[in-house]
Amino acid sequence: MRLSRYFLPVLKETPADAQIASHRLMLRAGMIKQSSAGIYSWLPLGYKVLKRIEQIVHEEQARAGHIPMLMPTLQSADLWKESGRYDAYGPEMLRIKDRHERDMLYGPTNEEMVTDIFRSHVGSYKDLPLTLYHIQWKFRDEIRPRFGVMRGREFLMKDGYNFDLTKEDALHAYNRHLVSYLRTYERMGLQAIPMRADSGPIGGDDTHEFLVLAETGESEVFYDSEITDLKFGDRQIDYDSVDQCQAVLEEFTSRYARTDETHDEALFNAIPEERRRTARGIEVGQIFYFGTKYSDAMGAVVADRDGTRVPVHMGSHGIGVSRLVGALIEANHDDNGIIWPEGVTPFHCGIVNLKQGDAEADGACESLYAALTVLGLEPLYDDREERAGAKFATMDLIGLPWRITVGPRGLKNGVVELTSRRTGTSEEMPPEAAVAKIADIYAGVL
Ligand code: ATP
Ligand code: MG
Repeated sequence: MRLSRYFLPVLKETPADAQIASHRLMLRAGMIKQSSAGIYSWLPLGYKVLKRIEQIVHEEQARAGHIPMLMPTLQSADLWKESGRYDAYGPEMLRIKDRHERDMLYGPTNEEMVTDIFRSHVGSYKDLPLTLYHIQWKFRDEIRPRFGVMRGREFLMKDGYNFDLTKEDALHAYNRHLVSYLRTYERMGLQAIPMRADSGPIGGDDTHEFLVLAETGESEVFYDSEITDLKFGDRQIDYDSVDQCQAVLEEFTSRYARTDETHDEALFNAIPEERRRTARGIEVGQIFYFGTKYSDAMGAVVADRDGTRVPVHMGSHGIGVSRLVGALIEANHDDNGIIWPEGVTPFHCGIVNLKQGDAEADGACESLYAALTVLGLEPLYDDREERAGAKFATMDLIGLPWRITVGPRGLKNGVVELTSRRTGTSEEMPPEAAVAKIADIYAGVL
């Protein structure tokens, strides 16, 4: 992409009403524009990051054997009356009447709808296990939408639902989700710690929330510092293996890690004092096992091996796709702007031309652009007639992890400069070497 032809409405001034870094930076970097409280347009740069996060989520769901689909945003109230949640959900649910005075709602979640789909089409244990998911916009009329996309009213969520014959099978599905979520967040360059949570209005016995540690997080968290040393890494896992998934769950949940909702002072104090940590965290996902709550209420039954009709065991599992954009920035920024991890960056690198209009500099930039593009990488070429300082400031603000700087002086010696956004260090090298190095870096990104 050439910056001269892109739509990147960066702001010079820091927006006064944005309280946290990620919100300020998303506005300044031209990623989002508020349309009304808690509702945003995703401008091209923000949209690109959102799509990269979605892509990682899809790839990891596929790896775990979960099946993508798409359910509508608007739902009929009838299903929610069946489950009993139409009245229970409260003012967070946006209720709408259509022209025939029928009660509709903008879905805050999809347990009822997916259970209805299931009961309409599945009648035998032979069709199980089954996990369906979608990535779809949700609406919750939050009492206090704030912090930009972190607590929106309209927000994008991946929500998945498992259907299993037995509790044991459903707990395996739960563990499988935990493993796939660990991989998903790590690919984004984030550490999200599974913490034992409270099940709230969805109801259920087993549930973990995934929290990213950040000062601006809304949850208070308590944990054993050893847990931050755990990495999933690139280990290979067989998602059908009950033992392997169970082992990962045990490894990642055996140390104390809880939110204030489930915090137990006595258990916490049993950890050696030097390992006790109190901090704040951003909830970026949650997994639930809730048994037959919805299948009982809505008659989602299958015939088991003996032909007996039994309610299916279910769970639901969510990732805050749009919130993750904010969480990623909270975890990765400095005074000059965003610092994208390679896994989610909107463009793989920037090319800054220090002397636009200089035949040699223009030619070198075009060659770099072509060479990177051929390798399947997406550079953002700042080809505007701007001062070098302004170009650097824009690149720092939007946070591309790598920048190639091209100028007549370097080109005389056959070199360009490759700069890391994270460390700020620069290295001079021939243009081909810069391309090779960037290609190499991204080949190593999971
Ligand atoms: P919270 O406690 O933050 O209100 P929740 O527990 O009600 O969230 P879930 O039903 O668990 O939310 O939804 C799954 C994920 O969707 C959450 O982990 C979070 O990342 C994201 N999410 C929930 N509410 C919002 C919101 N208002 N804005 C953006 N993302 C949200
Ligand atoms: Mg939650």
